Amino acid sequence: MDRLHTLRELIDGRLIIAVGDITKFEGDAIVNAANSTLYGGGGVDGAIHRAGGPAILNECAKIRRKQWRDGLPTGKAVVTSGGRLPARYVIHTVGPMWAGGNHNEAEALISCYRESLEEARKLQAAQIAFPSISTGAFGYPREKAAVVAYQAVSGFLSQNTVPERVWLVFFTPEDANVFLKAIPVN
Ligand code: ADP
Repeated sequence: MDRLHTLRELIDGRLIIAVGDITKFEGDAIVNAANSTLYGGGGVDGAIHRAGGPAILNECAKIRRKQWRDGLPTGKAVVTSGGRLPARYVIHTVGPMWAGGNHNEAEALISCYRESLEEARKLQAAQIAFPSISTGAFGYPREKAAVVAYQAVSGFLSQNTVPERVWLVFFTPEDANVFLKAIPVN
């Protein structure tokens, strides 16, 4: 089975930069870059639903009926089981669509990371993996998204002991290197 490849460990080993398919992650939780319908889509969303099977979609439909009838707002996060995934939970969050940078995109993206980490903390998830939220179909520039993701995650880790370790999983080594070049420490 193709495992995630670790490129770099930052923040005393609590932040891991890795390359690969996030559906293979064997920790407690993975984050899904969902869309507000929660009914699946392309990119990492499609990959997670394909690998995790129908249980995840059923739970998403229940969340729509009971909690978010008009869809999950941008920047919010909800939890389902991981279905057939190795990870026990999927935390679904809706990233902002890039609209030039003056439409609160950064605030919304920070909120995705914070709310997802807060859900992971409540679940007592020791290890959680994030994809690069919004940088695919939603068009958020990778360098800008890197700075936001790093700020949000490092800020949360400095104030919380759980999750112990956060993985940022990039689909390609090129994407991971863009991240590493863009962040303030490396
Ligand atoms: P968004 O709509 O939030 O932009 P996408 O799924 O289109 O979401 O893309 C988010 C990021 O996820 C992109 O950087 C893309 O390369 C990456 N990605 C797509 N599939 C996977 C996967 N199986 N594992 C990890 N990352 C993935």
